[in-house]
Order: sequence, then C-alpha cells, then structure tokens
Amino acid sequence: MMKYHVLTLFPEMIEQGLSSSIIGRATEKGLLQVEAINIRDYSTNKHHKVDDYPYGGGAGMVMQAGPVYDAYEDLVQKLGKKPRVIYLTPQGKVFNQKMAEEFAKEEDLVFLCGHYEGIDERVLERIVTDYVSIGDYVLTGGELPSMVMIDCISRLVPGVLNNDVSADIESFHDNLLEYPQYTRPDTFLGMKVPDVLLSGNHGKIEQWRREQSIKRTLERRPDLLEDANLSKKELEYLKRLQQEKEK
Ligand code: SAM
Repeated sequence: MMKYHVLTLFPEMIEQGLSSSIIGRATEKGLLQVEAINIRDYSTNKHHKVDDYPYGGGAGMVMQAGPVYDAYEDLVQKLGKKPRVIYLTPQGKVFNQKMAEEFAKEEDLVFLCGHYEGIDERVLERIVTDYVSIGDYVLTGGELPSMVMIDCISRLVPGVLNNDVSADIESFHDNLLEYPQYTRPDTFLGMKVPDVLLSGNHGKIEQWRREQSIKRTLERRPDLLEDANLSKKELEYLKRLQQEKEK
C-alpha cells in the first residue's frame, strides 16, 4: 500500500482532485491512501495566518516556516519514521517517468505544496529531501503538481491498473513514445484502420507497433531516441527514416 501525505493550505483541492476515476477506485480498494494535511491547522496565530511579508522587501507573501515544520513533525511522530519529503517547486529537477518509478518504491511519500511566493527557506533546508518541478513554467501552488505526481506514481503501484502490462508498453518505456491506437468502428470519416491490425498476425502487429513507435518518437521527440533501447534491425529502420527525412 502506498501512502501519500500532502501538506497544503488547500486540502479540498487534493481530496476532490484524487477521489474519482482510477485513483479514486484504487483508494477505495485499499491500494493507496491519500491524506491531505492542512498546514493552517498548525498556525499559532489567532487569525490562523500562515504567511507574512518577505524580509528584504519585494512583492507577494511568503509561507512561514513554523506551521510547515509543526505539521511535518506531527506527521513524523505519527509515522514513527522520517519519510521522503518532496517540495514541489519550479526550481526542482523536472519530473519524469524514471523518477516516478523510483518514488513508487516508497511506502510513504510527503508532498509539500507551496503557495504565494513560496516557503521560508529555513524549513525547506530542514525537512525537504527532493526538490521536484513538473515543468518549466510557474503555477499558483504546489497542489496541481503534487496531484500530477501522485497520479503518475500510483499507476505504477501493483493492482492500480487493471491491465498490469499496459504501464510497461506505454510512452517513455524504453524511451519511445507509444504507437497509435485504434478501436471500433474500422472506418471513421472514410479513414480505415491500418490493415495489419486486422490481420490477426501477432508477430506482424508487434513489428508494426515497434516501427510506429520509433517513427513517432523521431517525429515528435527525437531527443528521446539517444537513450532508446533499439535492436540492430530497429536501428537500421531508424537510419532509413532519418535518410528519408533528409531528402
Ligand atoms: N517564487 C517562486 C519561484 O520563483 O521559484 C515561485 C512560487 S509559485 C508562484 C508558488 C508555488 O507553486 C511554489 O511554491 C510551488 O510549490 C508551486 N509551483 C509553481 N510552479 C511549479 C512547478 N512548475 N512545479 C512544481 N511546483 C510549482
């Protein structure tokens, strides 16, 4: 069972965002547990304030160290161990499938969501083990990024996907994008499903899908191909595609 503990000022975002579809069902089945901890509950201020002006001036507000630290300490007490703490920040390492595979090995993961201009550096220095960004752009808070990560990591938890093999052949596995998918009807707006998929020849279908993956990766994400795991035959296919492209 994978347990997520999200430290946030907006627990309802997390609760609502992760309660439906595949993640919601996996939680009901007891494969996952999502706990949203309201940092505001740890404010010692009588108005439950959790932010203040930045030292040195400048725009915006900064989340104070105290409530974040107390929320974390309370959690560590309850767990009886120090879990990994991920701070969602545009200054972190950009999240990818490999990192998801690594995080999926943990039993407990803490996500710390910032808001406003961010969080007082001192508490980050004390509790954060991983700084993670979901991309080179700035959002208003860490809630959506933590949900993105939780969604992605949860798909790798055994039993969450009905079809256990599907995570293995998807985009980014082997550093290739997935081949195109089709379902009924076999003709749509005059466009037919590729014949090979109706042939029933599994060897041919497999080969076609691999080639489509390579072709698609070359067209859309050529940067991935550098680390792709290709057979000699597939490398030759890739070379032919590259030569055609240059013509
Ligand atoms: N002043 C901060 C900076 O320049 O690094 C940005 C603060 S941002 C407006 C508020 C919060 O949103 C951050 O503390 C972080 O938790 C979250 N956030 C924003 N963009 C993000 C991204 N690309 N990935 C992960 N978290 C992000």
